[in-house]
Amino acid sequence: MSKKGIAILGATGSVGTQALDVIRAFPDKFEAVVLTCGSNGDLLIKQALEFKPKSVVVTDPIQYKIVKEALALQRTTVLYGEEGLIEAVQYAEIDIVLNAIVGSAGLKPTVMAIQSGKDIALANKETLVVAGELIMALVREYGVNMLPVDSEHSAIFQCLVGEDQNPIEKIYVTASGGPFRGRKREELLQVTKAQALKHPNWSMGAKITIDSASLMNKGLEVIEAKWLFDLAIDQVDVIVHPQSIVHSLVQFEDGSMKAQMGLPDMKLPIQYALTYPARFENNFERFNFMDYPTLHFEKADMETFRNLALAYETLRAGGNKSCILNAANEVVVAAFLADKVGFLEMSDLIEHTLEKVEFIASPTLEDYLETDRLARLITKEIIKD
Ligand code: NDP
Ligand code: MG
Repeated sequence: MSKKGIAILGATGSVGTQALDVIRAFPDKFEAVVLTCGSNGDLLIKQALEFKPKSVVVTDPIQYKIVKEALALQRTTVLYGEEGLIEAVQYAEIDIVLNAIVGSAGLKPTVMAIQSGKDIALANKETLVVAGELIMALVREYGVNMLPVDSEHSAIFQCLVGEDQNPIEKIYVTASGGPFRGRKREELLQVTKAQALKHPNWSMGAKITIDSASLMNKGLEVIEAKWLFDLAIDQVDVIVHPQSIVHSLVQFEDGSMKAQMGLPDMKLPIQYALTYPARFENNFERFNFMDYPTLHFEKADMETFRNLALAYETLRAGGNKSCILNAANEVVVAAFLADKVGFLEMSDLIEHTLEKVEFIASPTLEDYLETDRLARLITKEIIKD
């Protein structure tokens, strides 16, 4: 059997580097055809020398020149920017595009990869938050597989294997609750970015770690699940589970519930997306019941963590609302990480932006891109005031 050709968009990030660990573990099954980075040129150069991909893409202009020079004597070509991403995802040698870019910058490359007939392994949840309806319509039109990498969605996807004929009654997306679980609003006024960056169970990139602390990550995942699994909004519930062992659950029409469990380690959902429908033997650490004698579940506190309520509201409103939510969130998280806004201010700023950007009921791809641009501008302006 020939090797599966993989493009990893965002190869230098948390998911990207773990995806390369998976590829490294199965050298006769997978081949890295394309690797991309934003501004971590040093790491991309090392990855290119090790994996010898056909191309690498760099979106930062200064780093592009550095990488191009460093790889001048290699067979790897070095491409630049969004145009580079769009060109590289179309290569005939690629079977799966693993999109591990952070933020709405992942949207256009996903669209282009689907339109070139590639299967998508999706870590970049923002693609579905911004334009879920449009993306899933393209997935159907081009007959490609959309394989979730997000651990909760991988769990649901795994629970659905063999259940094609059986409708879902409901899904439960589990949430760790993040570092501030159990706190009330007064106790969140002064929290620092260092505290917010300390996730109890997962080690991830900075943006998703802040999203986890504010429960925006769970809000984005509710939207992602709605579109991935074609559900009504009321079929998607969130349950807080601090141990992050049950990765999510599906309830069927006979009341039976299936859960997927395991230690919190992204390598497993990444590997499953790349090997689906097969499972490959690996040496990842195994779960031990004696280390987790009690698993515990509780209701999500949407009053304290307003972002989760806002995400449900935008999903109910439809159109470009979730796109506005996502863009505003990307701006406020960057501002929080730059010490420019407080933790609780983030939800207020998102709410303001949601009120200010014009509603579009049936957006096209161009409408989404324009909404994303406008919402960012407006959020930045409110922060400046
Ligand atoms: P990181 O910040 O660690 O990595 C992001 C990657 O995207 C890096 O390679 C970065 O390049 C690149 N990148 C950043 N901005 C751009 C841009 N504008 N254009 C092109 N490339 C860009 O993020 P994570 O790996 O944590 O997350 C990636 C995605 O996966 C997110 O959507 C996240 O929500 C999702 N996810 C992550 C999980 C995790 O465990 N980390 C779990 C589930 C989902 P560089 O670093 O070189 O600048
Ligand atoms: Mg997740």
